[in-house]
Amino acid sequence: MPQISNSSYTTPHEAYTLPNGLQVVILPDTRVPVVTHSIWYNVGAMDEQSGKTGLAHMTEHLMFKGTPTNPAGTMDKVVQRRGGTMNAFTSYDFTAYFQKVPTPALAEMMALEADRMNNLTLTEEDFQPERKVVAEERKLTTEADPSDRFFEKVLRQHFSKTTYGHPIIGWADDIQGYTKEDALAWYRTHYAPNNAALILVGDVNKALVADTISSTYGSLGKEAQVPPRALAIEPARKAPLEFMAIDPQVQVPVWHTLYRAPSSFTGVAGAKVQPGEAVALWVLAEILGGSDTARLHRALVLEQQLADDASASYDAVRAMESTFDVSVQPQADVALDKIMPAVQQVINQLIQEGVTAAELNKAKTSILADETYARDDSFTAMYRVGMWLTAGGTMATFDDWRRELASLTVADVNAVAKKYLTESGRTTAMLAGNAGQLGSLKPNL
Ligand SMILES: [Zn+2]
Repeated sequence: MPQISNSSYTTPHEAYTLPNGLQVVILPDTRVPVVTHSIWYNVGAMDEQSGKTGLAHMTEHLMFKGTPTNPAGTMDKVVQRRGGTMNAFTSYDFTAYFQKVPTPALAEMMALEADRMNNLTLTEEDFQPERKVVAEERKLTTEADPSDRFFEKVLRQHFSKTTYGHPIIGWADDIQGYTKEDALAWYRTHYAPNNAALILVGDVNKALVADTISSTYGSLGKEAQVPPRALAIEPARKAPLEFMAIDPQVQVPVWHTLYRAPSSFTGVAGAKVQPGEAVALWVLAEILGGSDTARLHRALVLEQQLADDASASYDAVRAMESTFDVSVQPQADVALDKIMPAVQQVINQLIQEGVTAAELNKAKTSILADETYARDDSFTAMYRVGMWLTAGGTMATFDDWRRELASLTVADVNAVAKKYLTESGRTTAMLAGNAGQLGSLKPNL
């Protein structure tokens, strides 16, 4: 596979910045006459204050309330008439809006999106019903799901000092507490060209669209001062955290451990992330639990028959400290207290003996294959660039992971396993439907 093993590969793109600060990234893909138009703001739930959680998501809802020129519903109607689709999403590091439309409709999308970046109007008649919609959304999602309810509390404990411990949708009381003025202040502070990136993927290139970008987004004024992002530090811990709960609504018990881990941009407990560590953790997750032939699955599912599933995952692309996750689905008659010793055995063995060259090569091949596949999907391609930029990356560093992956050694993977899969760095969450499923463990959350 010469193409996917090419570590010098650079994602084909054109990138530049408008005088008002808007970053523009174009990923040309001429295979279909469609373009995905998206705007990514460097603001999300991580930027919220305690007591005002959920404001980023609430503002995302309010962005559909219209402007003096384009009343509420205009974007919807235009996208539908053009046969496109649209959506918006809020996460910790970003708030993003996208429309996928036939290429001839692109200019219209730019005009509408640029308009609502500066000219959103908001009345109490818009705000109050939308608050009800969001409160209801919280009831139907987080509050309706015993596992989501539990993890909301666990995350608050794991990220005790940073805003990654806040729920993105907001605490129920906060949703009831904030005002139209809070949302407007949020909008005015963070929705500005110098705090956003325009990402286009599809049948376009700079020569074709630069003029339209200038005449729409280019005419927007720059926000005088977008406050720099506060990157809070979660202090070091001396002992692991363990949370157990019983919820009679639980059908299938949950076992999940979060290890404190650096992201591509931020180390653990205020330390700097070392070059290559994020990619090494990515490979480690693949070796430990990325497939049915990975170590956790082999040990817990096949050999010991304790679990129906066991996996590991790692998210490198976050602005602040991240987590390395291990998740186990115990067999129906296996109590949750049997899982940690079995997982620990797998991790101890990996740390003592190290990973093999065969495992490393298999993980590298698998990661490159997934990424090549992801690049072929315009939505995924857009999403990966947007996440990277809003977490703190630039297009100049977007493909660095390929070179890091190519030169990654067994020793690099062993080093991050030893450094990050530690007892004091972990938070374990166990949720059962009844006391029997917890075994000898006692509920404490
Ligand atoms: Zn929502």
